[in-house]
Amino acid sequence: MFDKNFEDARFSLNICNACRYCENICPVFKAIELRRTFSDNDIIYLANLCHDCRGCYYACQYAPPHTFDINIPKVFGTLRLETYKNYRNSKFSKDIVDKPHLYSIATFIVSFLFYTISSIIYTGKLSLIVIVDQNASFYSILPENFLIITMLIPFAISLTIYIKNFIDYCDYIGIKKGDFLKLSSHIRSLKSVILLEFLGGGGFGCNYPDEEYSFSRRIYHQFVLFGFKITFISTLIAAFMSHILNISPPYTFTSLPVIFGSIGGALLLLGLTGLLYLRTKMDRIPYSENVNSMDINFIMILLLSVLTGFLVLLFRSTIFMPILLIIHLSIVITFFIMLPFSKLQHAVFRYVSIYKYFSEMNK
Ligand code: SF4
Ligand code: SF4
Repeated sequence: MFDKNFEDARFSLNICNACRYCENICPVFKAIELRRTFSDNDIIYLANLCHDCRGCYYACQYAPPHTFDINIPKVFGTLRLETYKNYRNSKFSKDIVDKPHLYSIATFIVSFLFYTISSIIYTGKLSLIVIVDQNASFYSILPENFLIITMLIPFAISLTIYIKNFIDYCDYIGIKKGDFLKLSSHIRSLKSVILLEFLGGGGFGCNYPDEEYSFSRRIYHQFVLFGFKITFISTLIAAFMSHILNISPPYTFTSLPVIFGSIGGALLLLGLTGLLYLRTKMDRIPYSENVNSMDINFIMILLLSVLTGFLVLLFRSTIFMPILLIIHLSIVITFFIMLPFSKLQHAVFRYVSIYKYFSEMNK
C-alpha cells in the first residue's frame, strides 16, 4: 500500500516536473523543480510541505478524468496519513491512527471511570452530583496535585513522542543536526506558520471548499491557532495565580485566566465549527477519504473539550459542577493521550518541511 502510494506520487511528480505549469502556485512546485528524481524521502518531504490548498488540482489539465489522473492533493493526503501510521513502525500505532474514534471513546471511558472512582474515594460521597456551595473549589472534588500529575504524565509522554518524531523526521528528510540551526530559516518558517502563508494559494486564497478562491479555510485555521495560544496563556496565568500568588480557583468572571480562557475558547469554537462546516461543502475528489476519520476525530475531541470547559465555567456554582468537571477532565486527558496519533502530528512534520524548504531556497 505504502509502496504503491510512492509510485503514484513519483509518476505524478515526474509529469509535474516536465509540465511546470503550477510553479507559482505553491512552494511544493518550487521544491519539485530543484530535483530531477524523487526518492521516497523527497516524496514524504513534499507531501508534508503541501498545505492541501488544491490550487494545483483545479489548474491541472491532466486531472481526472484525464488518463494521467493527476491528483496531487489526494496523493499527498494519503502519503501524509501513511507517514503518521508507519513512522513509528508499530502495529499498535497504526491501529490507533486507523481507528481513532474507537480508541478515543475507550480512553474517555477509562478516564471517566478513573476520575469518578478517585473522586468518590477522595470526597467519600457515592454521588457525583453533590451540593456545592457558591464558592466551592474544583479541588474539593479532586485534589490539586493529583489533577496536575494525571494531566502532566500523558502530556509529557506525548511531548516526548513529538520531540522524537521531530528528530527522526529531520533525519529522514536529510536535515543534519548542524543544519537545523539557521536562524534566518527559522524566522522565515515561523512567520510562514503564524500567518499560515501557504494557505493563501497563489495569493487569492485556497480552492477550498470548492473551485472558487476563498480565504475561509485560512481564517478558520487562524482562529484555531490563536485560540490554542490564548488558552495556553490563560493556563499559565492561572498557574501563576495559584502557585505563586496562592489564589486558588475558581476565579471570577472578570479575572485574567477566565477572560483569556473565554476568548481562546470562543476562537477555538468559531474556528473548529467553521472548519467542520467547510468540510460538509468540500469537493471530495481531491481528498483522500482515508484521512477523514483522523481529521474528524481530532476536531471533535477539541470541540468537546472547549464546550465542556465552557459548561464547567457556567455551571461551576451548581450541583452539576462535579460531573461536568469530571467529563471535561476526561475529554482533556483523552486529547493529551491521543495527541501523538492525532491530526496535530502535522505540526511537527510540516514545520520541519517548511524549514527545509526555506533552507533550500536560501542556498
Ligand atoms: S499539477 Fe498538473 S498542471 Fe500542475 S504542474 Fe503538475 S501536471 Fe502540470
Ligand atoms: S494542493 Fe496546494 S499546496 Fe498542495 S501541492 Fe497542490 S498547490 Fe501545492
